[in-house]
Amino acid sequence: MNKPLDLKELMVDQAALAKRLRQETSGEVMTDSASRGRYATDASIYQAMPVAVFVPKTAEDIATAIQIAAELGVPVLPRGGGTSQCGQTTGAALVIDNSKYFRNILDLNLDKAYVEVEPGMVLDHLNGSLKQHGLWYPVDVSTAGQATIGGMAGNNSCGSRSIAYGNMVHNVLGINAWLANGQIAEFGNYANSSGVAKQLGDFVKGLATTLQPEIETHFPKVLRRVAGYNLDIFHPQSELPYTQDGSVNLSHLLVGSEGTLAYFKSLKLKLAPLPKYKVLGIVNFASFYKAMDSAQHIVKLGPTAVELVDRTMIDLARSNPSFKKTIETALIDHTAQTPEAILLVEFSGEAHAPLLEKLKALEELMGDLGLPGSVVPMPDASLQKNLWEVRKAGLNIMMSLKGDGKPVSFIEDCAVPLESLADYTQALTDVFSKYGSRGTWYAHASVGTLHVRPILDMRRDGAQKMRAVAEEASALVRKYKGAYSGEHGDGLCRGEWISWQFGPKITEALAEIKTAFDPKGLFNPGKIINPPKMDDASNFRFPPSYKVIPLQPALDWSAWNVQNNPVTEETSAPGTGGDPAMGLAKAVEMCNNNGHCRKFDAEVMCPSYRVTRDEKHLTRGRANTLRLALSNQLDMKDESSQLGSDAIKEVMELCVSCKACRRECPTGVDMAKMKIEFLSAYKKRVGHSLRDVAVAYLPKYAGTISSIPLLPALLNLRNHIAPIAKLQEWIMGISAQRSLPIWKSKTFWSNPKAITPYQYSADELSKQKGVVLLADTFNAYFEDENLMAAIKVLTAAGYQIHIPHKSQSKAANTEQNTCSKEFCCGRTYLAAGMVDKAKETLGELVNHLAPYAGKNIPIIGLEPSCLFTLKDEALVMGFGERAVTISQHAQLLEEFLANEVKAGKLNLNLKAASKPVLFHGHCHQKSFAAVTPAMELLKLIPNAEPKLIESSCCGMAGSFGYEAEHIEVSKQMAEASLLPSIRKSPDSWVVADGTSCRHQIADGTQREAVHIAKILAAHL
Ligand SMILES: Cc1cc2nc3c(=O)[nH]c(=O)nc-3n(C[C@H](O)[C@H](O)[C@H](O)COP(=O)(O)OP(=O)(O)OC[C@H]3O[C@@H](n4cnc5c(N)ncnc54)[C@H](O)[C@@H]3O)c2cc1C
Ligand code: SF4
Ligand code: SF4
Repeated sequence: MNKPLDLKELMVDQAALAKRLRQETSGEVMTDSASRGRYATDASIYQAMPVAVFVPKTAEDIATAIQIAAELGVPVLPRGGGTSQCGQTTGAALVIDNSKYFRNILDLNLDKAYVEVEPGMVLDHLNGSLKQHGLWYPVDVSTAGQATIGGMAGNNSCGSRSIAYGNMVHNVLGINAWLANGQIAEFGNYANSSGVAKQLGDFVKGLATTLQPEIETHFPKVLRRVAGYNLDIFHPQSELPYTQDGSVNLSHLLVGSEGTLAYFKSLKLKLAPLPKYKVLGIVNFASFYKAMDSAQHIVKLGPTAVELVDRTMIDLARSNPSFKKTIETALIDHTAQTPEAILLVEFSGEAHAPLLEKLKALEELMGDLGLPGSVVPMPDASLQKNLWEVRKAGLNIMMSLKGDGKPVSFIEDCAVPLESLADYTQALTDVFSKYGSRGTWYAHASVGTLHVRPILDMRRDGAQKMRAVAEEASALVRKYKGAYSGEHGDGLCRGEWISWQFGPKITEALAEIKTAFDPKGLFNPGKIINPPKMDDASNFRFPPSYKVIPLQPALDWSAWNVQNNPVTEETSAPGTGGDPAMGLAKAVEMCNNNGHCRKFDAEVMCPSYRVTRDEKHLTRGRANTLRLALSNQLDMKDESSQLGSDAIKEVMELCVSCKACRRECPTGVDMAKMKIEFLSAYKKRVGHSLRDVAVAYLPKYAGTISSIPLLPALLNLRNHIAPIAKLQEWIMGISAQRSLPIWKSKTFWSNPKAITPYQYSADELSKQKGVVLLADTFNAYFEDENLMAAIKVLTAAGYQIHIPHKSQSKAANTEQNTCSKEFCCGRTYLAAGMVDKAKETLGELVNHLAPYAGKNIPIIGLEPSCLFTLKDEALVMGFGERAVTISQHAQLLEEFLANEVKAGKLNLNLKAASKPVLFHGHCHQKSFAAVTPAMELLKLIPNAEPKLIESSCCGMAGSFGYEAEHIEVSKQMAEASLLPSIRKSPDSWVVADGTSCRHQIADGTQREAVHIAKILAAHL
């Protein structure tokens, strides 16, 4: 049995709590098991079901919620991005999510260089606003795109450049916070404080004075110590003073308090000038020990960062197509043996020349240390940026390991003085081998805080090994006079080590501080004070009792159904992992809650979250809900209906199957495929709607409609006569606000010339310069000009074209009685959850294409969603090796042409463009890295000056944008960046390969977007 999640004991409180919250606040209140389950985890190994989840809209809502919880005796847990690694953001409490509504700058003072923000403000967003003023908030955590200022302060977070700027505690100037009784207190300069803040300050001062000798003995003298409360504010022990003028700031008591002392309402932060220049020197080491030993000497040159990337990480990055090129820019010689470690040494400042001098000094230093010629100087800012991205992605690259053994975070931020770093890392490596595991080292060499995660299987013997390794690591930390908790906080993982670190007297004093602030112990109980054992399995997300329900998925998930070797990281054969859900559960469990999908930058993931900012509309929220369902942790009686349940429907509702998570989620959570599984199970339960049938069977009936005289014209009336559109909306749920694609009598297929000249067997075609061109339903029936344009371009370039059609195929014999003679990729069936029908349809195409692929003939498509079905879903539908071979030859028109140009086989000789070009990539095109070839090709048109629109999903996403219940979200997705970018360039061509993208652009901007085939043909 999995850990029971029903809250019988708290039921009374939960019901009363929810009722009062709903009555007395304007916030969103959630008590169902799926919603609570989505807030039961952070990026740690722990899980605890909240009593309820509250998403407040106003500060009054929070104050009222704290008050109500206090009256009902319900614990309160404030939450930001939920990216903590130690379990501090999990708890059986009223979890209050600040990240949706509390994202504002309250005050910005440029003269005094400070800013006051709400706690839910994300670091990257803050720095985005500050950039124009030449300022930034320099606590640059790796999770800058997700971490909220409240959460960063809660954890006393530290960035890569802490050696230059310090941790959160060094950069917070003041905090306004609610105390557990709902009262607000202002924590700032102690000398100027008053009221309850002063009283609390006086109390802590009393403790600190009495315990001064203890504090001096037990507080580690390193920069990176984040354990417990900062009782040392009155007698600072950190390498870097907490304040520049030596004053005492009471807000520093709250920094690192993990939501246990007070609830932050606003935070005043010290800003730093944004350095004008940065240079990077990358030192290559043949020995890991030498790299660690060199750090102490390198820091004397005054770098702003010294970050480690070890051999394993370099190898992993080199094996990942997204990172290979970048990581190789850091190597002295990428054809030689890979270094055992590299150190990224950054210098920054106001002028460039002195920084180049610093680089020279680094080279000299390395020569003196016996490593001449070991530095790659990198003055180029864009190369540096890319390399930092790889370094930041380090942990996530590691976490993509399939199987139950995962790299576990529990001793990964011990901080030791630099003189001992080499000995410490060597000794800890020996400890890992003793317990049959291995660690990958990376991160903050500058401050002696190296991240390392041994691979442990928490469902089996992980807890015992974790305990044993932790005990040995702690002895090493003590030996080298370091800090056991140096970056990620205490939470459930490190709480028990607080007394180990500070001794009984200070531990007692910390408890007294807690009582003074929160007498009833309602703020985030069990963290810092009275913590559980780190290996208490009842707190684990995957305790040994974790069980998955048996299930036969519609797709083949066997690639995830594996186990791994913790030392070699090799995985067992597909299908051998023992997953009762045949690999689907293991694929879902790949989500480690790191929160990377909560992002808003240039990429795509996750469009629905970008619009709603709801956890349930986030890849993480979806994965968590699926995990709980597949392990029977939701309140459902019938195990068999879990996957197709309403709880899963709720989270999948706004997933537009954009496939962005497949590429951008660091662990490769592929929600678009999981949505197919859900749809298949759900539709089996509830049946298909008329709309499903209309969408799914479009490829079957499109030919019939177009061939019946006057019928297309009749159907097109719907776009001009509002009541018909309204009636259709009422009957089928297709939004009346949308125009529908225009039916035509003359289609690609109705023109016999379209088929006859383009029929070749694989044998015939292989003897010529041949290609297969797929005529998909959308381009063939609604926009045949795109196919004609593609034919024109390919013919002009001298290719013989085969267009698959059943009239020439054996498959036609089995399809005699159906109305359609065209092949189809099955996409529309997948969108409607008809997986069997999709298999049947796609199977015919696979049969047809296999001989062509077998002869290495390129298979070209125009519609990204259709073409990439061949590279994606076709591989998990049981078609075997044939599908793999086809996927290796399937490509978009622009991919094919760009490659031919690069190989010197093609010179398109295009005419100059009359206006510039804007390009919008289809989500699936982005997911398969096929945007670059389009841009390369467009650059071949003189004067086109193609610009890529930095956009997420267009919001149309197949049929999604047509659906009445989704029309508003669809428009919001489009308005997020795509449509405004197009409006800003009224005189450009707009190029978009996706049928639905073009439709959205036309509906939203009244501008015609064209397929790349058309623009190329127009410039021949
Ligand atoms: C891949 C990865 C990389 C990471 N890299 C770094 C790194 O480089 N440096 C680093 O320091 N950390 C790192 N972390 C840990 C984590 O991302 C940071 O600590 C981050 O600052 C947490 O922010 P959050 O908004 O997610 O906080 P949450 O996890 O939501 O909350 C953190 C703590 O703050 C408390 N809290 C939140 N809001 C409030 C409030 N309003 N009032 C009082 N308390 C509050 C919470 O109760 C909790 O105890 C990393 C994590 C991951 C998964
Ligand atoms: S879905 Fe991927 S990106 Fe999102 S939290 Fe899970 S692992 Fe991270
Ligand atoms: S497929 Fe797209 S919408 Fe769905 S979870 Fe992934 S990123 Fe989000």
